[in-house]
Amino acid sequence: MTIGILKEPPFESRVSMLAGEVAALTKNGIAVWVEPEAGLKAFCIDEEYTGSGALIKPRADILSGADVLLSIHYNISPVSITNKVFIGVYQPLYNQEHVEDWLKQGLTVFSLDMLPRTTRAQTMDVLSSQANIAGYKAVILAASIYPHYFPMMMTAAGSCAPAKVLVLGAGVAGLQAVATSRRLGAVVEVFDTRSAAKEEVLSLGAKFVEVEGIADASKAGGYAVDQSEDFKERQKLRIAESIKKADIVITTAQIFGKKAPVLVTKDMIATMKAGSVIIDMAASTGGNTEVTKDNETTICGNVSIIGTSNLATSAPSDASKLYGKNIANFLKLLINKEGVIELNFTDDIIRDACITNEGKIISPIINKNYNHANIT
Ligand code: NAD
Repeated sequence: MTIGILKEPPFESRVSMLAGEVAALTKNGIAVWVEPEAGLKAFCIDEEYTGSGALIKPRADILSGADVLLSIHYNISPVSITNKVFIGVYQPLYNQEHVEDWLKQGLTVFSLDMLPRTTRAQTMDVLSSQANIAGYKAVILAASIYPHYFPMMMTAAGSCAPAKVLVLGAGVAGLQAVATSRRLGAVVEVFDTRSAAKEEVLSLGAKFVEVEGIADASKAGGYAVDQSEDFKERQKLRIAESIKKADIVITTAQIFGKKAPVLVTKDMIATMKAGSVIIDMAASTGGNTEVTKDNETTICGNVSIIGTSNLATSAPSDASKLYGKNIANFLKLLINKEGVIELNFTDDIIRDACITNEGKIISPIINKNYNHANIT
């Protein structure tokens, strides 16, 4: 059994696995091949990988020779590979063209953004490990741009009020943004459409703003559901009240597999104080503000709106370490005692995360969403 670690595209600074996790695999008799400089941007040099028992091999050799290929992003020429197992975060709900390629090539592709959000899957949950880092970094980024202190400061030269932070969406990233803002001494208000989020928000010392008429999300596997037009209007009015007092807004609101809800309008931004900062972490699925552009900063009046969905890359060492641990835990489900890949599709973790296998779609969610007319 050989596992290959591929170098990510230029915009990515993480790698699928650092040397520490590689060592655990090689100790168990699994061969690991690493593309030259794959871990360089995450501060893991080739010598660390070889010290962990891996071999450094050219990309072409890894693509043709390894049984399992690890790459966070899918950036592989579609013609060159067959009968391989891929593991990454490929967002198949948004990238149907990839699904078509995988079906045609007979690839076995696991996309870990499709894992069920269950207790058993927690150790493999790449969305959580990366969102946690992103939530932390969003606050650090905002604090570095915001032209004031975060904490209240009482000095001989005068006093400064604490920053007011508004967090929209209290999933993993949002809750970490709340916790980090609180650690820095900010006063924090939070909106979420899952009432289950309230207790977690309060336990972090923030205020949870409740809006009446919330749709029941109890059967959505922990995810948010679409809300009625009535609710959306009421929520907008409440957000408008909060946003004009806020100095920093961190938006993370997403609905699984859909476009992110627009919660902040241009008119709301016009009421914000000069120097305020919005970090929109839902930018890659359309953004939570009317003006967000992914990977760009937009200036509206005197407010900066930063669209960024990939903040985990700004902490590449810890992000790669945790991602690699997630992958190592997932591999334990795929590799049997004899060191051979054995796929048990009655296991909900394997079934839900497996997008394609032997020319068929396995994930029930992808199967439901896939436009079968596209198969040629
Ligand atoms: P996410 O990134 O899908 O969404 C972020 C947050 O935005 C969610 O809390 C959502 O409720 C909220 N949101 C959506 N629409 C909104 C709106 N109109 N206004 C305000 N807020 C809105 O969330 P996530 O971090 O991936 O977490 C989703 C769920 O999965 C949570 O319930 C979380 O606790 C759960 N979870 C479970 C596990 C596990 O058990 N393995 C792991 C991680 C997360």
